[in-house]
Amino acid sequence: MSHEALAEAVLSRLNLNEVNLAAATGDGRWLRGSASFVDEDPASAKPLARIGRGTAHDYEAVVAAAEHAFKRWREIPAPQRGLFVRDVCEELRRQKDDLGTLVSLDVGKIKAEGDGEIQEMIDIADFAVGLSRQLYGLTLASERPQHRLMEQWHPLGPVGVVTAFNFPAAVWAWNAFIAAVCGDAVIWKPSPKAALTAIALQHIVDRIAARHNAEGVFTLFISDEAAAGARLAADPRVPLVSFTGSSSAGRQVSQTVAGRFGRCLLECSGNNAVIVDETADLDLALPAIVFGAVGTAGQRCTTTRRLIVHESRFEVLAERLAGAYKQIRIGDPLDPATLVGPLIDQRAVEAFNTAVAETRALGGQVLTGGMRIPHAGHFVAPTLMRADNAWPSVQRETFAPILYLMRYRDFDEALALNNAVRQGLSSSLFTLDMRHAERFLSAVGSDCGIANVNVGTSGAEIGGAFGGEKETGGGREAGSDAWKNYMRRQTNTVNWGTGLPLAQGIRFGLH
Ligand code: NAD
Repeated sequence: MSHEALAEAVLSRLNLNEVNLAAATGDGRWLRGSASFVDEDPASAKPLARIGRGTAHDYEAVVAAAEHAFKRWREIPAPQRGLFVRDVCEELRRQKDDLGTLVSLDVGKIKAEGDGEIQEMIDIADFAVGLSRQLYGLTLASERPQHRLMEQWHPLGPVGVVTAFNFPAAVWAWNAFIAAVCGDAVIWKPSPKAALTAIALQHIVDRIAARHNAEGVFTLFISDEAAAGARLAADPRVPLVSFTGSSSAGRQVSQTVAGRFGRCLLECSGNNAVIVDETADLDLALPAIVFGAVGTAGQRCTTTRRLIVHESRFEVLAERLAGAYKQIRIGDPLDPATLVGPLIDQRAVEAFNTAVAETRALGGQVLTGGMRIPHAGHFVAPTLMRADNAWPSVQRETFAPILYLMRYRDFDEALALNNAVRQGLSSSLFTLDMRHAERFLSAVGSDCGIANVNVGTSGAEIGGAFGGEKETGGGREAGSDAWKNYMRRQTNTVNWGTGLPLAQGIRFGLH
């Protein structure tokens, strides 16, 4: 079956008859926009669907709906808000197979990873439902007699969620489900390269919202113009903008949001390294490196892009990796035998070609791969290159399956190489030396938001807080206490006594 026909069959099972839509106000109402653009199938480079381009007028309707919903939703007890997310979660469980296929068609990741993405939505929904009964504040010891000092967390307002193409479903869920139990409304601006998935998900939550008096809690605004995300960033009615995407766009978003004293949650580019030391178990390291480097065709923020290997293991590991790369099946992401699908679009292929050519010109040697695959669609060969960490191509994130190999002599040199990039998302060390492991995780070790030992750089669980430092943006999403980003903290002092003692023992007597 062609991808177009498969998409049609999936959408029909999801009861979605039309997708040329631009915005949704969260109460079942769709707005069609002024024009349309093409959502392309990366595996064939053919149009998958035409999607509506939202207008300024549509944007206003969406923000008005979210503002209205927020005023109602914030008063609903959090455990009841959790019941809405629970029902969404049940529906995702039921539709997992079709939604996984749709993700796969929309962005070209293999079916197993498309399904995995829906599973991630289910996991974060389960987490959010539990969290809805645990939005705790602290009680602190007051220095004044007969006073109570405490913190409360209140809903924040409509939250803008701008998402990247590579996790077209899960990243919205990380934000939206947590924000919803926190009492916020959510305005989603998805990547135009993955708009079909967004429309299908909005369609599902709309039906469930109606049963929970939650109309307008989840809204959607689609456009292929960069101005759409910029509009959210500039909008003072949106107190928090959660942005996932490249560091260059993230920088613009953060500057705009800071200019209006809004809050930003930034999840930007990564440039992640794996260190393999002289004691590492290579049987463990090898599959972790391959999955980290070629999974999602190298289009994960946590993709392994740099491999820093002790000189005593370098040649053997390089050889084993080159052997493993030769076995990787590249092709139709819906074929169960495929391990690597296409890149998202022609621009991504050009960025891959540029990075390979630039690295070669500086003396980098291609061990395997290094070229486009002559096939309809945007396929490239997973690539291994010897390179130097300081080269510009190694310093930037190229969203493609290129792994740069470099050697080191002593462990501090490896740590320095790990940290010597502008990004700070994920990192990992393969070792059986507990001193190396502890040093890697210590304050003088990895400077990344994620540091793993004997686990690769990609494939985080939702239970931990996810995010990175430096140009990755500093945000934390998903588990742990990341929910606090979506609420405002209020400190309360209550005097239940008969006197009015002042803090710091100040006497201010009125005689
Ligand atoms: P991108 O920056 O091109 O686009 C991301 C989103 O921002 C899209 O919705 C896009 O329409 C919007 N956008 C683009 N320019 C904008 C602007 N000036 N103002 C506001 N919004 C704007 O990124 P992409 O190609 O879709 O995704 C790949 C990038 O995302 C990579 O750099 C990857 O590392 C990063 N990413 C990071 C994480 C993370 O959690 N750290 C997760 C996934 C992806």
